[in-house]
Amino acid sequence: MTHRVFNFNPGPGTLPEEALAEAREALLDYKGTGMGVMELSHRSKPYEEIHFGLINGIKELLGAGDDWEVLLLQGGASLQFSMVPMNLMTGGRAAYVITGEWAQRAAKEAKRHGTVEVAATTEAEKFRRVPRAEEVKVEPGVDYLHFTTNNTIYGTQFHHEPPTGGAPLVADMSSDFLSRPVALDRYAAIYAGAQKNLGPAGATVAMLRKDLLARAKGDLPTMLSYRTHADAKSLYNTPPCWAIYISFLCCQWLQRQGGLAGIGERNERKARLLYDALDETGFYRPTAERESRSQMNVTFRLADETQEERFAKEATAAGLVGLKGHRAVGGLRASIYNAMPVAGVEALVAFLGDFERRAG
Ligand SMILES: *Cc1c(COP(=O)(O)O)cnc(C)c1O
Repeated sequence: MTHRVFNFNPGPGTLPEEALAEAREALLDYKGTGMGVMELSHRSKPYEEIHFGLINGIKELLGAGDDWEVLLLQGGASLQFSMVPMNLMTGGRAAYVITGEWAQRAAKEAKRHGTVEVAATTEAEKFRRVPRAEEVKVEPGVDYLHFTTNNTIYGTQFHHEPPTGGAPLVADMSSDFLSRPVALDRYAAIYAGAQKNLGPAGATVAMLRKDLLARAKGDLPTMLSYRTHADAKSLYNTPPCWAIYISFLCCQWLQRQGGLAGIGERNERKARLLYDALDETGFYRPTAERESRSQMNVTFRLADETQEERFAKEATAAGLVGLKGHRAVGGLRASIYNAMPVAGVEALVAFLGDFERRAG
């Protein structure tokens, strides 16, 4: 018997069991080819079905039309911090919304390629919320506005797109990609490392509107140019086939959950269950401001912070793992990505009550 815990890790995170079970079968003999899925040539027909299955699956889920290019890359979201400005900072100026460590890292890389203007920041409030629409100021003429839709470390999430003043909107969606319906017409580019909410580590998705891509810089190192990968349909060199395969299975799984509307409704329900439990008494204290609360990463403290170590330890013993907060902020964090079942959140809610009775 396989023993599986409820895995609340922030990334790599939990994956749908159905997808993992299917991958297990594919390890030795993929669909009667006599080769494991990892052994397929990336120039073969069976691999192409996986590759374009993922690209088209992502487009279908998001309702992206032919005006979008979906790229499958390597280097994680962190390489996108560089590729975005290298390719898209054509006029030498971009605006960044600073809502946490990942946004800061993105802005830091952009500064190597031009002028970065801070459109809004909530650093003075220790990133406990995202800026309201009226706080975002974008100067005319910037090449794009960059923001982080979900702040994995601080447990905050945008529930609206920031106003861009007409500039193309570029989003790091690493930790909430494909977790809810998206108003795609508001975006010009979206990227995400796969390992938070899409699949395993190793693949990175970058989606660009084709008109933006057409204006992108061309005189770049080959591998760092979006055009290279767009022209070659993300097969310029060997792609991360295995990570793409698992992401493809996860994508199919998402379709079976009712697409983004279906999974979005479930994610909302899971988050509500958990926040309601945390809000119930003063024993627990969610750290994000209410309007900015993330549906993916629920960050909280115990009123008595000295009990947090014990909380994490006893939770682990109860089969609820990965609840320690990021080392930069401490506290506790439950990452409840797409693949976390409602039963996992229910088990955590039961544990919250149980722990409070024992330690309160
Ligand atoms: C994890 C994370 C990153 C970094 O992703 P890598 O794939 O490890 O480079 C960037 N942005 C956000 C929002 C993240 O959660």
